[in-house]
Amino acid sequence: MKEDVSTFRKIVYLSFPPEVSGRPVVCNLAMLHNLSFNILRAEINPRHDGSLTLEIAGSEVDFHKGMSYLKENGVRITPASQKIFRDDDLCMHCGLCTSLCRTKALSVNPESRLVEFDVDKCTACGMCTRVCPVRAMVLDMDEDELG
Ligand code: SF4
Ligand code: SF4
Repeated sequence: MKEDVSTFRKIVYLSFPPEVSGRPVVCNLAMLHNLSFNILRAEINPRHDGSLTLEIAGSEVDFHKGMSYLKENGVRITPASQKIFRDDDLCMHCGLCTSLCRTKALSVNPESRLVEFDVDKCTACGMCTRVCPVRAMVLDMDEDELG
C-alpha cells in the first residue's frame, strides 16, 4: 500500500488469549482491511497468551474496521498514547517534530519559543519518535500492559 503524509497512523498494543494466538488475525489486517503494519514488539506463542505492539497505517476508516475485526476475533486492544513520552533533558527544542505532529500534541509556545508536549492530544502515531534527532520522544514498550 502506498503511504503519504496524510496516512492515518497509530500504535496499538494487542493482547491475544491462547485460543487466538495461533490464528493469522494480524495478517488479515493487510489482506482484508488494506492496512500496513510494523511489528515493534512481539511475544506470541501458539496456545499461550500473547502480545504484539504494532504501528498500523492506512486510512482512518480502514483502521477502525480493522480494529473492529480484531475485537470480534477476541483480541484486546489498548492504545499506546500514554506510553509516548518526552525526555526533557534530551529535547533541544529544535521544532522538527512539530511539523509532523498532526494532532498538535507537539507545538511551539509562541512566547517562550519552547516546544511543548500535550500528552492528552497524542494519538501515538509514532512520527515524532522517528524524526527526533536526539531521540527525546520515546515509546515505552518495556511493560506488559500499555495504556
Ligand atoms: S524533534 Fe526532538 S529535540 Fe526537536 S523539539 Fe522535537 S522532541 Fe525536542
Ligand atoms: S506527539 Fe508524536 S506520537 Fe503523539 S501524535 Fe504527535 S507525532 Fe504522533
